[in-house]
Amino acid sequence: MALTNQERASLRIFLAHARSVVLKMRDSTKYPELYAIYDKIIDNISHVPINIRSGETLESGLSGIVNGMNSKKLEAGILRSAIFIPHDHLFEYGKVSTDGALTLLHELSHVVLPHSAHNFTAKMGLHPRFADEFFADILMAHVAKNMNFQRESIGNHLVRRRATFEGFPIDRFALEGRRGVAEEIREGRFRPRSIRRPMEEPIRAPEEPVHILPTGRRWVNDLPGVRKPRRFSPRFA
Ligand SMILES: [Zn+2]
Repeated sequence: MALTNQERASLRIFLAHARSVVLKMRDSTKYPELYAIYDKIIDNISHVPINIRSGETLESGLSGIVNGMNSKKLEAGILRSAIFIPHDHLFEYGKVSTDGALTLLHELSHVVLPHSAHNFTAKMGLHPRFADEFFADILMAHVAKNMNFQRESIGNHLVRRRATFEGFPIDRFALEGRRGVAEEIREGRFRPRSIRRPMEEPIRAPEEPVHILPTGRRWVNDLPGVRKPRRFSPRFA
Protein backbone atom coordinates (compact mmCIF):
# COMPACT_ATOMS: atom_id res chain seq x y z
CA MET A 1 0.00 0.00 0.00
CA ALA A 2 1.06 3.59 -0.50
CA LEU A 3 2.87 5.21 2.40
CA THR A 4 2.92 8.88 3.32
CA ASN A 5 6.21 10.73 2.88
CA GLN A 6 6.60 10.86 6.65
CA GLU A 7 6.09 7.08 6.99
CA ARG A 8 8.47 6.41 4.13
CA ALA A 9 11.15 8.63 5.69
CA SER A 10 10.67 7.11 9.14
CA LEU A 11 11.02 3.56 7.76
CA ARG A 12 14.09 4.53 5.75
CA ILE A 13 15.77 6.08 8.81
CA PHE A 14 14.91 3.04 10.94
CA LEU A 15 16.39 0.61 8.38
CA ALA A 16 19.55 2.71 7.94
CA HIS A 17 20.01 2.81 11.72
CA ALA A 18 19.44 -0.96 12.01
CA ARG A 19 21.93 -1.60 9.22
CA SER A 20 24.70 0.51 10.75
CA VAL A 21 24.18 -1.12 14.17
CA VAL A 22 24.30 -4.69 12.79
CA LEU A 23 27.40 -3.76 10.74
CA LYS A 24 29.11 -2.76 13.98
CA MET A 25 27.94 -5.99 15.67
CA ARG A 26 29.26 -8.02 12.75
CA ASP A 27 32.66 -6.34 12.74
CA SER A 28 33.17 -6.66 16.49
CA THR A 29 32.21 -10.34 16.97
CA LYS A 30 34.93 -12.94 17.30
CA TYR A 31 32.63 -15.87 16.46
CA PRO A 32 32.63 -16.87 12.78
CA GLU A 33 29.08 -18.28 13.04
CA LEU A 34 27.79 -14.99 14.44
CA TYR A 35 29.69 -13.06 11.79
CA ALA A 36 27.88 -15.06 9.10
CA ILE A 37 24.50 -14.55 10.82
CA TYR A 38 24.95 -10.78 11.21
CA ASP A 39 26.17 -10.58 7.63
CA LYS A 40 22.96 -12.26 6.49
CA ILE A 41 20.85 -9.88 8.56
CA ILE A 42 22.62 -6.92 6.87
CA ASP A 43 21.87 -8.57 3.54
CA ASN A 44 18.21 -8.96 4.56
CA ILE A 45 17.99 -5.28 5.61
CA SER A 46 19.43 -4.22 2.26
CA HIS A 47 17.60 -6.59 -0.07
CA VAL A 48 14.51 -8.34 1.28
CA PRO A 49 11.36 -6.61 0.01
CA ILE A 50 9.06 -5.34 2.75
CA ASN A 51 5.41 -5.65 1.74
CA ILE A 52 3.14 -3.43 3.81
CA ARG A 53 -0.45 -4.60 3.96
CA SER A 54 -3.34 -2.43 5.10
CA GLY A 55 -4.91 -3.18 8.46
CA GLU A 56 -3.71 -4.14 11.92
CA THR A 57 -2.86 -7.81 11.38
CA LEU A 58 -2.09 -10.09 8.48
CA GLU A 59 -4.76 -12.57 7.47
CA SER A 60 -4.22 -14.95 10.28
CA GLY A 61 -6.46 -17.98 9.82
CA LEU A 62 -6.39 -20.42 12.71
CA SER A 63 -3.00 -19.60 14.16
CA GLY A 64 -4.12 -16.42 15.91
CA ILE A 65 -2.86 -12.88 15.36
CA VAL A 66 0.00 -12.59 12.89
CA ASN A 67 1.89 -9.30 13.01
CA GLY A 68 4.60 -10.20 10.58
CA MET A 69 5.76 -12.87 8.21
CA ASN A 70 8.94 -13.77 6.37
CA SER A 71 7.96 -16.01 3.52
CA LYS A 72 10.68 -17.97 1.80
CA LYS A 73 10.36 -19.44 -1.66
CA LEU A 74 12.83 -21.54 -3.59
CA GLU A 75 13.11 -20.07 -7.09
CA ALA A 76 15.51 -21.63 -9.59
CA GLY A 77 17.71 -22.91 -6.77
CA ILE A 78 17.79 -19.58 -4.93
CA LEU A 79 15.98 -19.04 -1.65
CA ARG A 80 14.02 -15.80 -1.93
CA SER A 81 12.50 -14.04 1.06
CA ALA A 82 9.77 -11.46 1.32
CA ILE A 83 8.53 -9.76 4.47
CA PHE A 84 4.86 -8.99 5.03
CA ILE A 85 3.82 -6.63 7.79
CA PRO A 86 0.52 -4.85 8.48
CA HIS A 87 0.53 -1.07 8.18
CA ASP A 88 -1.26 -0.24 11.43
CA HIS A 89 1.14 -2.46 13.38
CA LEU A 90 4.27 -0.98 11.79
CA PHE A 91 3.27 2.68 11.98
CA GLU A 92 1.82 4.86 14.68
CA TYR A 93 1.09 8.57 14.11
CA GLY A 94 3.04 8.47 10.85
CA LYS A 95 6.17 6.93 12.35
CA VAL A 96 7.52 3.42 12.84
CA SER A 97 6.12 2.25 16.21
CA THR A 98 8.23 0.48 18.82
CA ASP A 99 6.31 -2.80 18.53
CA GLY A 100 6.26 -2.56 14.74
CA ALA A 101 10.00 -1.96 14.67
CA LEU A 102 10.63 -5.03 16.84
CA THR A 103 8.41 -7.19 14.62
CA LEU A 104 10.26 -5.94 11.55
CA LEU A 105 13.63 -6.66 13.21
CA HIS A 106 12.40 -10.18 13.98
CA GLU A 107 11.45 -10.76 10.34
CA LEU A 108 14.81 -9.39 9.17
CA SER A 109 16.55 -11.75 11.62
CA HIS A 110 15.16 -14.89 9.95
CA VAL A 111 18.36 -16.34 8.54
CA VAL A 112 19.51 -19.81 7.57
CA LEU A 113 20.97 -21.09 10.83
CA PRO A 114 24.07 -23.19 11.42
CA HIS A 115 23.49 -26.72 12.68
CA SER A 116 24.66 -25.78 16.18
CA ALA A 117 21.65 -23.47 16.54
CA HIS A 118 19.30 -26.45 16.48
CA ASN A 119 21.38 -28.22 19.15
CA PHE A 120 21.35 -25.09 21.26
CA THR A 121 17.56 -24.88 21.00
CA ALA A 122 17.27 -28.51 22.11
CA LYS A 123 19.55 -27.78 25.09
CA MET A 124 17.04 -25.17 26.22
CA GLY A 125 14.48 -27.98 26.42
CA LEU A 126 12.75 -26.85 23.24
CA HIS A 127 12.07 -28.95 20.18
CA PRO A 128 14.64 -28.16 17.46
CA ARG A 129 11.74 -27.21 15.15
CA PHE A 130 11.52 -23.99 17.21
CA ALA A 131 15.11 -23.02 16.31
CA ASP A 132 14.16 -20.59 13.53
CA GLU A 133 11.64 -18.62 15.61
CA PHE A 134 13.77 -18.86 18.75
CA PHE A 135 16.86 -17.42 17.06
CA ALA A 136 14.92 -14.75 15.20
CA ASP A 137 13.65 -13.53 18.59
CA ILE A 138 17.08 -13.71 20.27
CA LEU A 139 18.76 -11.91 17.37
CA MET A 140 16.00 -9.31 17.32
CA ALA A 141 16.55 -8.63 21.04
CA HIS A 142 20.32 -8.32 20.56
CA VAL A 143 19.95 -5.89 17.67
CA ALA A 144 17.22 -3.93 19.49
CA LYS A 145 19.39 -3.59 22.62
CA ASN A 146 22.24 -2.29 20.49
CA MET A 147 19.85 0.14 18.82
CA ASN A 148 19.02 1.47 22.32
CA PHE A 149 15.46 0.20 22.51
CA GLN A 150 14.33 0.10 26.14
CA ARG A 151 14.56 -3.24 27.93
CA GLU A 152 10.90 -3.02 28.94
CA SER A 153 9.80 -2.54 25.33
CA ILE A 154 11.74 -5.63 24.26
CA GLY A 155 10.42 -7.60 27.24
CA ASN A 156 6.81 -6.56 26.61
CA HIS A 157 7.14 -7.53 22.97
CA LEU A 158 8.66 -10.93 23.76
CA VAL A 159 6.40 -11.90 26.66
CA ARG A 160 3.62 -12.31 24.09
CA ARG A 161 5.82 -14.82 22.25
CA ARG A 162 5.93 -17.28 25.17
CA ALA A 163 2.99 -19.25 23.77
CA THR A 164 4.94 -19.88 20.56
CA PHE A 165 7.57 -21.70 22.64
CA GLU A 166 5.26 -23.81 24.85
CA GLY A 167 5.62 -21.28 27.63
CA PHE A 168 9.41 -20.90 27.50
CA PRO A 169 10.27 -17.49 29.08
CA ILE A 170 11.82 -16.15 25.87
CA ASP A 171 11.53 -12.56 27.16
CA ARG A 172 13.63 -13.28 30.24
CA PHE A 173 16.05 -15.45 28.28
CA ALA A 174 16.67 -12.64 25.79
CA LEU A 175 17.23 -10.05 28.53
CA GLU A 176 18.82 -12.07 31.35
CA GLY A 177 20.62 -14.75 29.38
CA ARG A 178 20.72 -18.47 29.96
CA ARG A 179 21.68 -18.12 33.62
CA GLY A 180 18.58 -16.05 34.27
CA VAL A 181 16.30 -18.93 33.31
CA ALA A 182 18.60 -21.81 34.28
CA GLU A 183 16.19 -23.09 36.92
CA GLU A 184 13.24 -23.11 34.54
CA ILE A 185 15.29 -24.92 31.90
CA ARG A 186 16.43 -27.53 34.42
CA GLU A 187 12.96 -28.17 35.75
CA GLY A 188 11.18 -27.96 32.43
CA ARG A 189 8.76 -25.58 34.18
CA PHE A 190 7.78 -23.82 30.98
CA ARG A 191 6.43 -27.00 29.45
CA PRO A 192 2.69 -27.41 29.76
CA ARG A 193 1.65 -29.90 32.43
CA SER A 194 0.29 -32.31 29.83
CA ILE A 195 3.68 -32.91 28.24
CA ARG A 196 5.79 -32.41 31.34
CA ARG A 197 8.05 -35.40 31.80
CA PRO A 198 11.69 -35.95 32.51
CA MET A 199 14.01 -35.28 29.61
CA GLU A 200 15.20 -38.46 27.97
CA GLU A 201 18.81 -39.46 28.44
CA PRO A 202 20.76 -38.79 25.26
CA ILE A 203 21.86 -41.91 23.41
CA ARG A 204 25.54 -42.39 24.07
CA ALA A 205 27.96 -43.79 21.54
CA PRO A 206 29.90 -46.83 22.81
CA GLU A 207 32.96 -45.67 24.64
CA GLU A 208 34.98 -48.87 24.14
CA PRO A 209 36.54 -49.39 20.72
CA VAL A 210 34.82 -52.10 18.69
CA HIS A 211 37.11 -54.81 17.40
CA ILE A 212 36.39 -56.68 14.26
CA LEU A 213 37.07 -60.34 14.95
CA PRO A 214 38.22 -62.97 12.47
CA THR A 215 35.25 -64.98 11.21
CA GLY A 216 34.48 -68.23 12.99
CA ARG A 217 36.08 -67.19 16.24
CA ARG A 218 33.97 -65.43 18.76
CA TRP A 219 36.64 -64.12 21.08
CA VAL A 220 40.30 -63.85 20.36
CA ASN A 221 42.38 -63.66 23.49
CA ASP A 222 45.73 -63.35 21.82
CA LEU A 223 45.00 -60.11 19.96
CA PRO A 224 46.20 -57.09 21.86
CA GLY A 225 43.42 -55.01 23.30
CA VAL A 226 40.73 -57.69 22.98
CA ARG A 227 39.47 -59.04 26.24
CA LYS A 228 36.90 -61.74 26.74
CA PRO A 229 33.89 -60.25 28.50
CA ARG A 230 33.10 -61.69 31.86
CA ARG A 231 30.35 -64.26 31.85
CA PHE A 232 27.05 -63.14 33.25
CA SER A 233 26.92 -65.28 36.38
CA PRO A 234 24.51 -63.98 38.93
CA ARG A 235 25.09 -65.19 42.43
CA PHE A 236 22.34 -65.58 44.92
CA ALA A 237 22.81 -65.29 48.59
ZN1 LIG B 1 9.27 -15.45 12.72
